[in-house]
Amino acid sequence: MNQNTSNISNITGIAASNGWAIATAQVLNPYVPTAVYYCVEPSQIKHEQTLLTGAFKSVHHELSVLSEPLKNLVAQGLAHEEVYTLLEVQSLMLDDPALYDATLAYIAETEVNAAWALSQQIQYLAAEFEKLLDDYFKERALDIRQLGQRLLSHLLTPQRSTWNYTLSLSANDAPIILVAQDLPPAYFAQWQPHSLAGLVTELGGYSSHTAIMARSHSIPAVLGVSGGLKLIKTGDLLALNGHTGELWINPDAVQLSILRAAQVIWTESQISANNEVSQAAITQCGKKITVLGNIEQPSDITAVLAAHLEGVGLFRTEFLFMGRDHLPSEAEQTAAYTKVIYALKGKPAVLRTLDVGADKLLNAMQSSNDSPNPALGLRAIRYCLANPELFLTQLRALLRAAHNTIPGTLKILLPMIASLDELQRCRSYLLEAEQQLCTENIAYGTVELGIMIEIPAAAIAIECLLPYIDFCSVGTNDLIQYTLAIDRNDAAVSHLYNPVHPAIIQLLRHVFNACKTAKKPVSVCGEMAGDVRYTSTLLELGLRTFSLHPNQAPAVKAAIRQWHSNIL
Ligand code: PEP
Ligand code: MG
Repeated sequence: MNQNTSNISNITGIAASNGWAIATAQVLNPYVPTAVYYCVEPSQIKHEQTLLTGAFKSVHHELSVLSEPLKNLVAQGLAHEEVYTLLEVQSLMLDDPALYDATLAYIAETEVNAAWALSQQIQYLAAEFEKLLDDYFKERALDIRQLGQRLLSHLLTPQRSTWNYTLSLSANDAPIILVAQDLPPAYFAQWQPHSLAGLVTELGGYSSHTAIMARSHSIPAVLGVSGGLKLIKTGDLLALNGHTGELWINPDAVQLSILRAAQVIWTESQISANNEVSQAAITQCGKKITVLGNIEQPSDITAVLAAHLEGVGLFRTEFLFMGRDHLPSEAEQTAAYTKVIYALKGKPAVLRTLDVGADKLLNAMQSSNDSPNPALGLRAIRYCLANPELFLTQLRALLRAAHNTIPGTLKILLPMIASLDELQRCRSYLLEAEQQLCTENIAYGTVELGIMIEIPAAAIAIECLLPYIDFCSVGTNDLIQYTLAIDRNDAAVSHLYNPVHPAIIQLLRHVFNACKTAKKPVSVCGEMAGDVRYTSTLLELGLRTFSLHPNQAPAVKAAIRQWHSNIL
């Protein structure tokens, strides 16, 4: 941080993703339109019907304006086709007489206001869809509810649309700093991250998935800014330093020039760090350290290769599943995993099976929000074991992607394993997937199987699990959350989130030693591995494989090159 800027900072939040951003704010209001009931005089019925027609026309226009640029982005591979299809489905629903004509009739017959009639009709149609047995039609209930919100928002506050933000994040607009109460990680799957210069949220902590996504996309971010939505308005000029968590709202001309200068210095320091990234990570005492990359999408491989990383240490495959109504088919998943393997040209890739739940929800899972404690609920492997079809489809796709690879190139990583029983059940499903493919004469390859060590029980009892796995990877984000009882998404307790708490150090030491004794490779793929403050601690504890976001590689590799063991 440039000393000169420290006295003009307006607010400080959690420094979540390094870098400077100076841009216009776009506030994403958590506004949920709600209809109230009232009767209207017969003479007012025509007026209510006209209001309804106006809302339908506006939404028609809005959907066509939204889908046009998306069409191009989908063609360029910059946006999910699902998002475009979703808008098209909503357009078609608008023309359905069961919605428009029936709501007009409802207003006339029951003599109620348009918003109430609309909300009733939406509820009725959504409930009808939900009753159907076919999953495809069941999912349409969500579409109709979303369309209902869009219509209601126009009907109740025609001058303000909740959906404007989608427009401002199109590829053609100048990047903005997004300000939101929270930004569920699924949003990153729908939006084009290059249109975000920076991110400010009221909620979230350093190791929340929102922060992880921001770091992964190199979007400077300050999270946990309490009252941010009250203080910042769309159109305000914001400056933020994601390294210190400082945020400036409408800085004056003098402040702005200082902030811009600090931004230039930071950018230049990044350029020189990047220039050294191709050098190997060899410590002062000659130990070669392996540095791998964390990715969320196959397209992130470009950054892994640019950072001269030695493979992928964590592919969070759940991001292929999020922000869309239909889950990816086996063929789509096989193609995505093959793309990663192919791009790595023989370097290893660790692909983690679906880790959804808590703050990473599938569209079809919205109800898990109702879980009394989602982080301790049906998350990750627990969700997969409760949905064997989904799990088997992913395992089949992974095995198929391993076809024609050298054994050991594709490694399957199971998240949130807590017990041997869970591990054995997963091994049975893997065997079943192999047998299915064999019977169906579908080509597949050999994979290695590993587990995430991210639940304290697994770290403590690791010796019981090691005989049944080929490798393991420590997820410090969750390991710290569960050991210290600190919700990683809760800004209020983020100051207590301590990666070097003695309990964490003991667990890490135990895991590294047990893996060394059992001769099983171990890496750390949680955020601790990419945080230069902990590089020497991890090396001292015996870690020799780091997996981090490619943009963290220059700093961590530099720290590794400076390290000299105190033990030798
Ligand atoms: C972790 O928990 O450290 C981890 C890498 O997994 P995730 O952050 O996706 O929960
Ligand atoms: Mg985890």
